[in-house]
Amino acid sequence: MVGLVFVSHSAKLAEGVKEIAEQMTQGKCMIAVAGGIDDPQNPFGTDPIKVKAAIESVYGKNGVLVIMDLGSALLSAEMALEFLDPEQAQNVKLCAAPLVEGAVAAAVQASIGANIADVMNEALNALRVKSEQLAQVNTMAPPLAPSRSPAVPLPGQEKIKLTLTILNRNGLHARPAANFVKAAGLFQANITVAKGTKIANAKSINQMTLLDAGQGDQIEVRASGPQARQATELLKVLAENKFNEKDEETAFVTLEKAAGLADTRENVQGAIAGIPVSAGIAVGPVAHYHSRFPEIKTRQIQDTQSEINKLQAAVSKAGKDLEQLRNQAAQKLGAIKAAIFDAQKMFLNDPALLDAVQDAILTQQCNAESAWQKSIDAMAKEYRKLTDPYLREQAVDLIDVGRRVLVHLIGRRLPTLELAQPAILFAKELTPSDTVQLSPDNVLAICTALGGQTSHSAIVAKALGIPTIVGLGEDILTWTENDIIALDGTQGLVWPHPTQSQLTECQTRRERWQTQQQQAKALAQTPASTMGRNPKTIKVVANSDAHDTKTILDYGAEGVGLFRTEFLFLGRLQAPCEKEQLQTYTQMANIMQTRPLVIRTLDLGADKTVPYLNMAPENNPFLGLRGIRFCLAHIEIFKTQLRAILKASPGHNIKIMFPMISTPEEFCEAKAVLNEVKQELKSAGIPFDENMEVGLMIEVPSAVAVADQLAGRADFFSIGSNDLTQYIMGADRGNRKVNHLVNALNPAVLRMVAQTARAARKAGIWVGMCGELAANPLAAPVLIGLGLDELSMNAPNIPDVKNAIRHCTMHHAKKMAQTVLTLETAKQVEAYLKLNKEKSVK
Ligand code: PEP
Ligand code: MG
Repeated sequence: MVGLVFVSHSAKLAEGVKEIAEQMTQGKCMIAVAGGIDDPQNPFGTDPIKVKAAIESVYGKNGVLVIMDLGSALLSAEMALEFLDPEQAQNVKLCAAPLVEGAVAAAVQASIGANIADVMNEALNALRVKSEQLAQVNTMAPPLAPSRSPAVPLPGQEKIKLTLTILNRNGLHARPAANFVKAAGLFQANITVAKGTKIANAKSINQMTLLDAGQGDQIEVRASGPQARQATELLKVLAENKFNEKDEETAFVTLEKAAGLADTRENVQGAIAGIPVSAGIAVGPVAHYHSRFPEIKTRQIQDTQSEINKLQAAVSKAGKDLEQLRNQAAQKLGAIKAAIFDAQKMFLNDPALLDAVQDAILTQQCNAESAWQKSIDAMAKEYRKLTDPYLREQAVDLIDVGRRVLVHLIGRRLPTLELAQPAILFAKELTPSDTVQLSPDNVLAICTALGGQTSHSAIVAKALGIPTIVGLGEDILTWTENDIIALDGTQGLVWPHPTQSQLTECQTRRERWQTQQQQAKALAQTPASTMGRNPKTIKVVANSDAHDTKTILDYGAEGVGLFRTEFLFLGRLQAPCEKEQLQTYTQMANIMQTRPLVIRTLDLGADKTVPYLNMAPENNPFLGLRGIRFCLAHIEIFKTQLRAILKASPGHNIKIMFPMISTPEEFCEAKAVLNEVKQELKSAGIPFDENMEVGLMIEVPSAVAVADQLAGRADFFSIGSNDLTQYIMGADRGNRKVNHLVNALNPAVLRMVAQTARAARKAGIWVGMCGELAANPLAAPVLIGLGLDELSMNAPNIPDVKNAIRHCTMHHAKKMAQTVLTLETAKQVEAYLKLNKEKSVK
């Protein structure tokens, strides 16, 4: 029998038409519907994925006829055909018949076993009877013209295809996927995303993550509808900017790598090995944590609507809980880690998940909690099948969100952890929200049977400073409660039955570790000077964007050494105006008070593009119109930014820094524009800091070669070791294949750092570094020895770098600097630095 699919903008209409057709044929037909879209706020529209699913559900050897209502329904049906297996697609016909009349005629014809051509014909002729009848009644009724699909898309119904490459180190995992979904949700457009044979609704966080798109994978975005173009433009820019995720946020070892690491570890007597997640030593009693939930029973219910209402209320309460948790996490762990809970919130708004649950309630007439639990279990199972370990571990986040909704559905509280005494926590697996509630005051350490180093719980445990080992195996769940055990989170070792001497040794190491922790915390707030007779104080500041200014001070930042202003410009459809920029710079300046705040002017170009500035594609964008070159070619944008920075400056210590300067001429040109803006402000009587320092980033080899000439014109240098390395080595910093060359510890790079510092010293200006190398505590002595005055880094690295500064003398630092300049490879430099660190610890 021919299968039938009815597509409508309204889910109710599609169901209603199906009801009439079934009534006409006494249910003898195979009918599926695809009505509306999964957006509770705006449910009208059509969804190609739904159409595809409907076709597949009634597909048989006799084929399927699709009848649709108007506008985008046609496009969705056409798109659905493209998604189908080509062999299947050949047997599916789209029918131009009017929905209601056509559906009824087709159903009757199909129910008598007619072939697809006859069913289609019958449907196409369905209006004739009505038309002829009305023609008799109403002589003005026009003759019926054969219906035809429009040859070109109607205005506002453009169909756009776009291929994007995933650049994110851990692929399209929950946080970047959440940003994708958020962006897609801003537009009136049907957007689907395909990777190979998998297709996702771009507004569904789960479907997007389940695409399993890893770094380097290509995905195809197809959009239709009135705002298809704007949507794809924004998605393109987002993808190029790694969906606003920074690599340093994802620099974790994968489960597989960590497991390899465990294998090479020395076999310490009596110890069980797991995956080290968070460093530290602990000795204490075992405390098992079972986050058991009451068994969810399936009940038959009559009033499906009231179950759906219950579900919606529970989801909304869970959303509020997550909001609170996010704020709590932001206070405790900083904004970056708190974003874990933002991503969890996206699960709650996932139309695919909610739709599946509502469908189950309606079709199976079951209770909301059972439908919810089953959908979460099914989806978590899909996550666990993914190949990418990072994506796979997000099943735990989904389960976490699932439990949060369940507690509201069944009116229970989430199980809480009550420890009678400080203890080592044992669990099968911990969710991020379990972990964020823990306090290092009574949780001495964490051991879990499952889990990996890249899980969100692991990130939270590390941020809380709780020694943690995961992946220890299920045997640990049988260890006796309250038995005293010892644990080394750095090596990933646990001693279930420590000998007296092992206990004593661990106890001593724990005390030493704790003392170091406390000292590091207190010390982080004070300036860092080298040891010895001629100490030098190194300014340790943070790299920042607009989001994390408050928390960077908690880490001991003495100011901001690099404010990357491009984050203000990315992921949007128009440039921020002067007022918006001024507000952001003022906000930051108010937090920094009189601490230095180095604002880098816009560094667009290369991998950072925006749709609204006519940035023409370039063959070699990293060698193209980026950084200061772009600003000098777009003077108005440049001047607007400079005006905003100058206006924010009175009473603060703001400095301006130009990126990607390659020649003295370019620096002079940029300063000339700045002077022009200053003159304009002066004439208008607007105050600004007239003594504001103006410096530049050294990130192009030519700037190093003429550093002496630049130094005479600048107030400071800041070395951008990330770009400087890629340009010196001629190796793209984002290309894995040449990763071995992109190492700032390469003597070629260190020699350029030395040359830059020499030029700065000779001209009497200060020189800092704000690339990743500055965050490496091993490299700190060498950088100081080479003559750097300031190190700027992501704030969480500050305590360690300050600690490294305090452990070296200037004499030793200079000697180390001289030595590394004579070495030949980055590996040799690294080995030398490690050796020196060990020596200094002993
Ligand atoms: C650098 O290149 O080292 C730098 C700090 O700038 P960005 O990483 O923003 O290019
Ligand atoms: Mg740079």
